[in-house]
Formats: sequence, structure tokens, C-alpha cells
Amino acid sequence: MCGAGTAPVTGFLPCADNRPPQPRDNRVMQQIHTTAALQSLAQQGSPATGAPARCSCRLSHFAGWDSITDERWPGAQMEQIASLRSPDAQEPTFAEYHPQGTRYDSPNAPIALAYFPTNRAGVWRCHDCGLQVLRYTEFGGYYIDHRVRVLDAALVQQAPDPAG
Ligand SMILES: [Zn+2]
Repeated sequence: MCGAGTAPVTGFLPCADNRPPQPRDNRVMQQIHTTAALQSLAQQGSPATGAPARCSCRLSHFAGWDSITDERWPGAQMEQIASLRSPDAQEPTFAEYHPQGTRYDSPNAPIALAYFPTNRAGVWRCHDCGLQVLRYTEFGGYYIDHRVRVLDAALVQQAPDPAG
């Protein structure tokens, strides 16, 4: 029993729901719509060198959409802070963006918002070192495969619309 109307005014009991929200609860996951927003978010993370290189998340060397098992994913210290998948788009394109001849798993491939697989990824941040990574899940016939790539601001590029 708690709240107004269930107890005399003098004996008002606070409801569990009336507690002030904790800072973590106030954060809303961002939806990233533009390259500029992604660029700005990328700049808020730590570079993969320095503290992240020694952090227990061990994600700083995931530079090229590397596969990661559930066991290795440091879920306890990671928080998803943004989604890059447009909620109103239909199936995002599988087209990739490699104007300089890079490949899907090249560490220096551009990060282009509208192209595969960035267009299906979320941005996750390590609480301990501030490293931000892109992560998406590939669903195969008999498997699911999580892929991770450090969100490096220097690789975020404005790219032409894949549909046009
Ligand atoms: Zn870390």
C-alpha cells in the first residue's frame, strides 16, 4: 500500500515509483539520422589507443567488423547509446561503400551511415574507458554472428545516397 488515497495524509508512504529517477534512467538512446550527428557522436568517444588499449573490454583492436562471441562481449560494462538503423526505413540496403577499394573487413574502410553494415548497427560505449564501438548482428540460416568495429571519427564519411 502506498501513495495518495491509500493512507492518511500524515502517514503518506512514498511509492517505489515516486523515487527520483537515477541518472542512467534519464538517458534516452539517440537515433542518428545524419553523418554530422554520427561524426559528432564519434568524437565523444575515446580513441582506440591509450586507456582503451588496456581496458578489460578488450575492444580497441576490433577495427574491421570483427566477429565476437557472446562470451567475449563485455556486456556488463557496455551501454548502447545510439541506433543507426532508421526506424521508418524498410530493409536497409546491403550495398557497401568502398570508394578507395577497401573491403568489408578493412580497418580503414569508411564508416558511411547509409551503407551496410553501418546502417544496421548500434553504437555502444564502454563505461570504463569511453571507447565507442559499432555493433550489429548478422542472422544466418543456422547461426547469429555479432560484429564489432571501433567507431573512429576519422573514418566517418559523408557518402552519396545508395538509392540514388
Ligand atoms: Zn573499455
